[in-house]
Amino acid sequence: MSKNPVIDQILDAYKPIWALNHAASLFDWDLETYMPVDGAAPRGFAQAQLALIRQQKVIGLTESVSKAEKLGDLNQYERGVIRNIKRELKYFTRIPPELVEELTRTITEATVVWRDARKKSDFSLFKPYLEKIVQLKRREADKLGYEGHPYNALMDLFEEDLTTNDVDRIFSPLVTALKRILNGIVSSKSFPTSHKLEDVAYEEQDMRHVNQEVLRILGMPDKTFRMDVSTHPFTSGMSLDDVRITTRYEGMSFRETIFSVIHECGHALYDLQVDHSLQYTPLAGGPSLGMHESQSRFWENFVGRSREFTNLLYPILKKNLKFVSEYSEDDIYKYFNLVRPSLIRVAADEVTYNFHIVLRYELEKKLIGGEVKVSEIPEIWDNMMEKYVGVRPKTLAEGVLQDVHWSGGMIGYFPTYSLGNVIAGMVTNRMRRDLNISDLVARGDMNPIKLWLKENIHKWGSIYSPKELQRKILGEAYNPEYLVKYLEEKYLA
Ligand SMILES: [Zn+2]
Repeated sequence: MSKNPVIDQILDAYKPIWALNHAASLFDWDLETYMPVDGAAPRGFAQAQLALIRQQKVIGLTESVSKAEKLGDLNQYERGVIRNIKRELKYFTRIPPELVEELTRTITEATVVWRDARKKSDFSLFKPYLEKIVQLKRREADKLGYEGHPYNALMDLFEEDLTTNDVDRIFSPLVTALKRILNGIVSSKSFPTSHKLEDVAYEEQDMRHVNQEVLRILGMPDKTFRMDVSTHPFTSGMSLDDVRITTRYEGMSFRETIFSVIHECGHALYDLQVDHSLQYTPLAGGPSLGMHESQSRFWENFVGRSREFTNLLYPILKKNLKFVSEYSEDDIYKYFNLVRPSLIRVAADEVTYNFHIVLRYELEKKLIGGEVKVSEIPEIWDNMMEKYVGVRPKTLAEGVLQDVHWSGGMIGYFPTYSLGNVIAGMVTNRMRRDLNISDLVARGDMNPIKLWLKENIHKWGSIYSPKELQRKILGEAYNPEYLVKYLEEKYLA
């Protein structure tokens, strides 16, 4: 793909960096799945050492990258290589090692404190850590540099080139439309707000069988994919030939584990379908969290929560879960698609989910911009929940303390969840011009859908930035219209 000796030299020098990333993902995967608890400290030590080697290796590319930039006639692939390495270089050269060290140490401690604070529903325990994290993230933003709002520098770490202007432009019409849709659902009562199956227990072994069938329907490959169990479901792409997902079995409300499996399979398919010529290069993966999330949401919501997919699952559910025979297929469809204003983001439905994100985005922006103090957050959170979602938390654990992101220093991450929903709407709209998605899902024939995603999105890896890739494939970037149209058709028709 590259005919340029300078680029070839860079790609050669990148191989050990790829290998360090590969080792780090295996370390992480193991930490989340099978490692004994006390292994955490030495694992953290080893990860930090690997990160330092990685930083040196990346900085070592500085000279060849500036040499490559002076070359005029680079092709799209070569420009992609340079763009991606420059992003890593920017971070590692502008953030001094002391700041990296202080951030890493603070978030490691904060994560443990946050768990305790959440358990006790006590914000005062977490407050000093969050104050420190906000202060460090502001310093990080200053070091990285930005135009406009300092929050732009932080979002860019997760979604290249995304600005608060972009997000405001996307979220403002989205919120208005979602409020209208939610009111429509509430007044028509066409979708229930609760379901008996939420309180029905299941046997883990039975659900394991169901999930195996889900993997079979989605056509997940045997030799390059595996599924395990962990506290929080995640996907880990070790290489283009080794992608792993996890799920969890909570024992109640069986839909949770099914939809987490479908969601993570969406991420896994992205990683598995990147063109193999990009293996071992900085381009071997999706270009942003928003693009990645669009794929998991597409499979989870647009496919998984459809009438046709419910029809495919229904006999499997009846066979493996005895209690399901008491419910009709329509009942199960409604159980998969409850809509209700609720307090917890991760349990929110397709319509109200985005309100949870808007709240976090507005709050983070104000925190980083210095407009609100950490001590004011619990109060502001509760008021915003009432304004956006229409419910008020009774405890801090079901309010401001519910998410892990802030303790992990991931400020600027939340917007990418809603961007994923928005892009999934755009992708579905575009795919419909080429494929009859409903018919294919009804027949259980997922291959044409997977092939479409591969040819249009997955195979490019991160050759293009998320905005470039959307413009190339979808003609525009982050347009919320299609998500709104889809939700209207599904819930208000
Ligand atoms: Zn996801």
